[in-house]
Amino acid sequence: MVRSVHHFVDGKAFQGSSGRTGDVYNPATGEVQAKVDFASTDEVRTAIHAAQAALPGWAATPPVQRARVMFRFKELIETHMDELAGILTSEHGKVFSDAKGEVLRGLEVVEFACGAPHLLKGDFTENVGRAIDSFSTRQPVGVVAAITPFNFPAMVPLWMFPMAIICGNTVILKPSEKDPSASVRLAELLIEAGAPAGVLNVVHGDKEAVDTLLTDPGVNAISFVGSTPVGEYIYATGCANGKRVQALCGAKNHMLVMPDADMDKASDALMGAGYGAAGERCMAVSVAVAVGDAGDRLIEKLEPKVRALKVAPGNDPDAEMGPLITREHRDKVKGYVDLGVEEGADLVVDGRGLRLQGYEDGFFLGGCLFDNVQPDMRIYKEEIFGPVLSVVRSPDFGHALSLVNGHEYGNGAAIFTGDGDAARSFAANCNIGMVGVNVPIPVPMAFHSFGGWKRSAFGDHGMYGMDGIRFYTKLKTVTSRWPTGMTSGAEFTFPIMR
Ligand code: NAD
Repeated sequence: MVRSVHHFVDGKAFQGSSGRTGDVYNPATGEVQAKVDFASTDEVRTAIHAAQAALPGWAATPPVQRARVMFRFKELIETHMDELAGILTSEHGKVFSDAKGEVLRGLEVVEFACGAPHLLKGDFTENVGRAIDSFSTRQPVGVVAAITPFNFPAMVPLWMFPMAIICGNTVILKPSEKDPSASVRLAELLIEAGAPAGVLNVVHGDKEAVDTLLTDPGVNAISFVGSTPVGEYIYATGCANGKRVQALCGAKNHMLVMPDADMDKASDALMGAGYGAAGERCMAVSVAVAVGDAGDRLIEKLEPKVRALKVAPGNDPDAEMGPLITREHRDKVKGYVDLGVEEGADLVVDGRGLRLQGYEDGFFLGGCLFDNVQPDMRIYKEEIFGPVLSVVRSPDFGHALSLVNGHEYGNGAAIFTGDGDAARSFAANCNIGMVGVNVPIPVPMAFHSFGGWKRSAFGDHGMYGMDGIRFYTKLKTVTSRWPTGMTSGAEFTFPIMR
């Protein structure tokens, strides 16, 4: 019997009746382990109505009380850490230690959200004019839809709903249909923490569910994380329907390896950043730019490490890399490796032949390493989202920087060097949202904000941090005076504060 994954609406499980479901795999074995309900338009509307009904009461709940719910939620996530990480390993395939790291990075946003009363404090100016005071507050945007990708089934939802909820909004989360169970478990834990029913609802599904969220007038704001083509559609459609939208999208993150870099450390960093989570991270490094004479020394260090990569099911304690999310995605990534060979890049390590005894039907692919990749190749230009690292050789720093700046994506980039001038110049001049100096995956902490540039993000605000507070609230400024401060007679000039 395969398990069923239902929606979670108005504080309880809500079994879909659309007759449409999706398969949830165990990527390590290739078996279907669950069927997830796909919501019809009417079922999504039921969730929207639940969120709308919960909104007035929750928006009126003092921030200090919303924060207390978050404190309890934080404790519950800590208590259930292994259980949540186990769900991620089982449905996504990532190794258990990495899954725990993911939950921890999401937990950091919940910790930040516990500061709600401070974060939502307004500004007050006494005497903006004679006997006139002015104050600014930030009020909830309303019902927020959160649409999330498969690759961080706990962390990305946790980037969104705790921030939206402490701001007084109510939320409909539409997680990836490929690994939906973590979202449902988080919603159950939030209810256990004391959130009223309807504050967080989870609906599963595909384009039909998303399109309802994008067009229904009951939804006020959309947070999206996923691929660029879908994100662009979400941004355009959401905006055209009068909603506030943020859409964080795809990436092709470069890491410059300068000639003076410590090649042991740089190659170790590339191993984790290129092959961790099987390269299925929006902050994965997929291009290493070897500057000057760094190329041969880098390949010499990298090649044996890629060959030695321990690929195994995520629940194997020795695993360094697990399977990919689905058979289709594994085949797509494999297709990119075929393409790179056709395009003339040197395939130094070929992981296409990997077979794991006992897991022949799992969605595994060994680590692949290309050298001499050229900027006009598709394997350089497109996001592969798998365990494939491309090394591009670059004559000097200026050329390497121009590669980074010329790429259509601008999520993350890093430089490995001991040269402070090069590092400073790179950080100041790259056209990229998140930059690492000797840090391969520079994911900002919860009290900063996460966001890319160029076609890696649409909309003005990053996720979490103060950008999260701004996105999930509307600014209101009140200017007030009382009878003693009021003048007599009509004034026809534009108001001037005296
Ligand atoms: P995806 O775009 O396929 O799916 C994301 C969400 O959109 C899912 O909930 C999915 O059900 C929905 N969706 C898919 N197709 C749709 C359509 N045609 N119409 C409406 N909704 C649709 O992305 P994915 O494969 O789940 O995730 C991987 C992508 O996410 C990669 O491109 C990765 O770089 C990106 N990502 C970006 C960030 C970031 O912060 N920039 C973080 C994580 C992942």
